[in-house]
Amino acid sequence: MLTLYLHIPFCKARCSYCDFYLVTGREQIAAFFSALSLETVSRSEELKGQTISAIHVGGGTPSMVPVRYLALWLEELAALCSFAPDIEIALEANPEDLSLKTMDELRSAGITRLSIGVQSFTTEKLHALGRAHTALQASRVTADALRRFESVSVDLICGVPGENGSLWQADLHEALALRPHHLSLYMLSVEPKTILHRQVAKGLVTVPDDALQASLYEDAQSALSLQGYSQYEVSNFSLPGHHSRYNLATWKREPYLGFGPSAHSFLVSPQMELRMANVSSLTRYLAAPAAATAFREELSVEERFTEQVFLTLRINSGLDVDFLRKGNKLGHTLSLAIARFLEKGWIEQQEERLYLTQKGFLFADLIAEEFIFG
Ligand code: SF4
Repeated sequence: MLTLYLHIPFCKARCSYCDFYLVTGREQIAAFFSALSLETVSRSEELKGQTISAIHVGGGTPSMVPVRYLALWLEELAALCSFAPDIEIALEANPEDLSLKTMDELRSAGITRLSIGVQSFTTEKLHALGRAHTALQASRVTADALRRFESVSVDLICGVPGENGSLWQADLHEALALRPHHLSLYMLSVEPKTILHRQVAKGLVTVPDDALQASLYEDAQSALSLQGYSQYEVSNFSLPGHHSRYNLATWKREPYLGFGPSAHSFLVSPQMELRMANVSSLTRYLAAPAAATAFREELSVEERFTEQVFLTLRINSGLDVDFLRKGNKLGHTLSLAIARFLEKGWIEQQEERLYLTQKGFLFADLIAEEFIFG
């Protein structure tokens, strides 16, 4: 089984906090899909004989491209490999793009799961984030999607400029009233080279400090757990059976293929593990889509170990203690680190596996770093 990712690199405008690879405007959409066809055919050897369990269409804003382009690409892909009978085809969408007609077209094209970039159900936060949709639209579209798709996920952001406990409670309250199958909760991070970074540096806006962010995150963990959502990753919560198949496969380090500019692939064979990335430039992608790979690296034993610890510690299936002990040279220092985190209540051990606790999810990267580097 294999999963696929498609990167659609278009947005109407760049949000102040975003550092993804994308271009603004629609002018090059047709050219992009022609190039994507060529890239897909050029990779037919990688697809041949494979069964695809999940496809994730991300971006950018996939919902701003005409659905017929996506439908055609899925048909081209299906001719080159097999789709599992219960395949999950997920698409990231912004509320302002999701008319009833568009949702029905997406459903007819084979999309089974919508991941809606709601970000907030409050006018104040949507305004602070510079999003194009209204709070009312976010609620209405989520409710409409829940009547049409097998799985609906909602993205929320906490820690935006001006955020406080009551705004976050309003977000959680509305999300839980709508009861999507899945919620992704992101803490806003101020990435270098973004508009938000410049605004913060100039003192034009302030973002909540780490303590407030942590407290908002913990409020969400408690509220969602009470309503039957299971936290299966640092930022992701689902009702039973509604985790994101593609995302979970990447955290489990299962192989996947990425298409489109800046998309990554991970190939696994008994001999080696290979990470590849497509060129992060639409212009260069359009010029040579059949030669889009810009980066290819075979992972060393140390790199495999580091990835395994960082990625598997994030998810709720836990980390094998024996694997951890054998993979590094820390010896006694590792035992001390495990004992310290157990005592702090950030991890728990069941038989031979270590799991993050609710509190520990906040410190996933810090714990992984200690386990690897001491
Ligand atoms: S819509 Fe999403 S991908 Fe596009 S600029 Fe905003 S945050 Fe980035």
